[in-house]
Amino acid sequence: MPSCTVCGAPPLARTCVFCHTHHRAYTAPTVVGLLDYLARHLPKAEAQRGGFLGRGSVRTFELHAGGETFAGRFRRGELELTPKFPPEAWTERLLVALSREAEGDADVRRAVSRSGWALRK
Ligand SMILES: [Zn+2]
Repeated sequence: MPSCTVCGAPPLARTCVFCHTHHRAYTAPTVVGLLDYLARHLPKAEAQRGGFLGRGSVRTFELHAGGETFAGRFRRGELELTPKFPPEAWTERLLVALSREAEGDADVRRAVSRSGWALRK
């Protein structure tokens, strides 16, 4: 499954949730790699990896942003998200919270703009 050509995110919808780029090769949504992708771009997130010596992919993810807690974990191959939303809506909500946070936090602002994500107004 090709990731977004602009920001590198796994495709959750036909239009990239992170940077609003239209995916030309989109066929179906995928959440594989979503937590890895988020952990890589959000240094404040707490992430735990699976696999040998914890070098595998991210299994659990947690981030406090904009007064909310966002969490995700893979269990038996299924992605469970908190708050309970489908992946696309959860990510949209996370980006709204990060945009709110970015207003008063230069580190968050840098992390978001460096990732190529579109801030929400
Ligand atoms: Zn993108």
